[in-house]
Amino acid sequence: MQMIDWEKITFDQQGLVPAIIQDAQSKEVLMMAYMNKESLQKTLDTGETWFWSRSRQELWHKGETSGNTQKVGRISLDCDGDTLLIQVNPAGPACHNNTYTCFTSLTDEEQAGPGRFEILGQLEALIAKRDAERTEGAYTTYLFEKGVDKILKKVGEEAGEVIIAAKNRSHEELRWEASDLIYHLLVLLREQQLPLDDVLKELSGRYHK
Ligand code: AMP
Ligand code: ZN
Ligand code: ZN
Ligand code: ZN
Repeated sequence: MQMIDWEKITFDQQGLVPAIIQDAQSKEVLMMAYMNKESLQKTLDTGETWFWSRSRQELWHKGETSGNTQKVGRISLDCDGDTLLIQVNPAGPACHNNTYTCFTSLTDEEQAGPGRFEILGQLEALIAKRDAERTEGAYTTYLFEKGVDKILKKVGEEAGEVIIAAKNRSHEELRWEASDLIYHLLVLLREQQLPLDDVLKELSGRYHK
């Protein structure tokens, strides 16, 4: 059970504090809702998110009706103590509209140009979205529905195909099969709830030692 320093948290006049909910793995921002002391205590006790519904004036266990609960990881507080940031592993869509995240872009244009390996993070986020929403007809949905054994089989197969492509000295084939392998590896990381950041940190740690 997690312990927190209650003194540091500033609840507003209604006794509420906004809680930003973030995917612990993909780092996508999923939703914002309010907590009061009781819902925060329940969140700590149960390891799942509880909020205060301002419209219904009642405690609300996220996923109570939808089944889309959120397993709580790290909880942070902002500089002036009036906003919570809660990292979760979501069991499904965070939004009542059945989308992975409540947030959609209002500004049309892409923010900055993509960094060199930004596609990896984008792909990780898309896979997380498919995992939550289970979009019909999507291959990623099919993999998650089939389960871990299917995903493991694909990782093994694609690793074999990478080997064959390399043996053939074919860049075209290797580019294709390496992409297949990386994609399926990212699906496996999602299934195992291991953030890509952790893998990159591991690589970085080895490099810098
Ligand atoms: P759930 O907790 O997912 O079972 O949803 C129960 C109810 O809470 C829904 O019918 C919505 O009214 C509300 N709700 C669920 N998720 C959200 C959200 N991300 N933002 C605002 N309201 C929500
Ligand atoms: Zn603040
Ligand atoms: Zn929503
Ligand atoms: Zn392949």
